[in-house]
Amino acid sequence: MQTQDFVDLESQYGAHNYRPLDVVIERAEGVWVYDVDGKRYLDCLAAYSAVNQGHCHPKILRTLEEQARKVTLTSRAFRNDQLPLLCKDLHDLTGFDMVLPMNSGTEAVESAIKVARKWGYKVKGIPQDQAEVIVCANNFHGRTVTIVGFSTDEHYRDGFGPFAPGFKVIPYGDAEALRSAITPNTCAFLVEPIQGEAGILIPPAGFLREAAEICRQNRVLLMTDEIQSGLGRTGKLFAYMHEEITPDVLIVGKALAGGFYPVSAVLASREILGVITPGDHGSTFGGNPLGCAIARTALRVLIEEKMVEQSADLGAYFLSRLQSLRSPAIKEIRGKGLWIGIELHGKARPYCEALMHEGILCKETHDHVIRIGPPLVVKREELDWAFERIAKVTATSQ
Ligand SMILES: *Cc1c(COP(=O)(O)O)cnc(C)c1O
Repeated sequence: MQTQDFVDLESQYGAHNYRPLDVVIERAEGVWVYDVDGKRYLDCLAAYSAVNQGHCHPKILRTLEEQARKVTLTSRAFRNDQLPLLCKDLHDLTGFDMVLPMNSGTEAVESAIKVARKWGYKVKGIPQDQAEVIVCANNFHGRTVTIVGFSTDEHYRDGFGPFAPGFKVIPYGDAEALRSAITPNTCAFLVEPIQGEAGILIPPAGFLREAAEICRQNRVLLMTDEIQSGLGRTGKLFAYMHEEITPDVLIVGKALAGGFYPVSAVLASREILGVITPGDHGSTFGGNPLGCAIARTALRVLIEEKMVEQSADLGAYFLSRLQSLRSPAIKEIRGKGLWIGIELHGKARPYCEALMHEGILCKETHDHVIRIGPPLVVKREELDWAFERIAKVTATSQ
């Protein structure tokens, strides 16, 4: 079978909820992926940062194989010998007291909202069913009905209502708007430290620090969604660390299991996560031994192989090279760590297609931005190789 055969098959039998580039990937290693015709591409999306550790990392693969031979799933009706160790590893790495394990990022966000509401009622004393969560314009937190209900992207909402009440939207990066939006019924402020899906939007310096202070003064939980920005992507272990704050609730996913398995988690203090008692919340797969074992190794290699430092160093290098580009097509280039947005005046899709033909895979986000986010194991020479091609493609109008 060739590329077109796979495209046709998927188009006929699969729901059309994506518009992927027509490259059919068959295998991958590190930063490189190979299509069914044997052509090689530099992966500059890294599965939306789920493969920060690089594709098919050999140590994570070994853990997957070993654990899959022992036990994969017990459900939480019984205990397993991997979940406690993952919780401890996450505690040691981040300092948070407790961990609530889930699978997809969306589920972790949903879980964090449930935790925040329950904390609001049981600890803060908000009257029943009055809890409010403040979110930001252009947010991306997932695709469930609750979550798209507070999206400001009409496309994400259209046709899916009615939506859950209890959410209030403020402009992103506007601390004063946060202050004015808070009421005695506000339980949490949910925010991405950098908005990835919105096009690598970086808020004004100091925003997160100010937001943390406003939340503290008003007894509102600061919940950072670091599903995409976390685990090294921005050159720190978590993006909130750029502002030297600690959120009350940290939401992680994607790279937590290095692309081998969906593992997500909500991390918080005992005061907050302690509100969840047996029967309140659950997940058949959440905390399963296979996912937990994989996540432990995925975290270990991220730290041991210095991928966070690599992201900071090479990200700064690549950003400055890209910012030297002079092309009438380019409006702005911004980024942090190995997370870079090239904002164009026109549509980004044709540029992504042209880059694909040059051997680079990346994806447009919100029409005008090319997002560059390779696995953090990328080498300087590979970035130089990518730079030449990006320079070539952006030099001509597509
Ligand atoms: C990807 C993402 C999610 C959703 O994660 P899924 O694993 O796709 O459910 C939520 N928030 C942010 C910031 C994300 O990037």
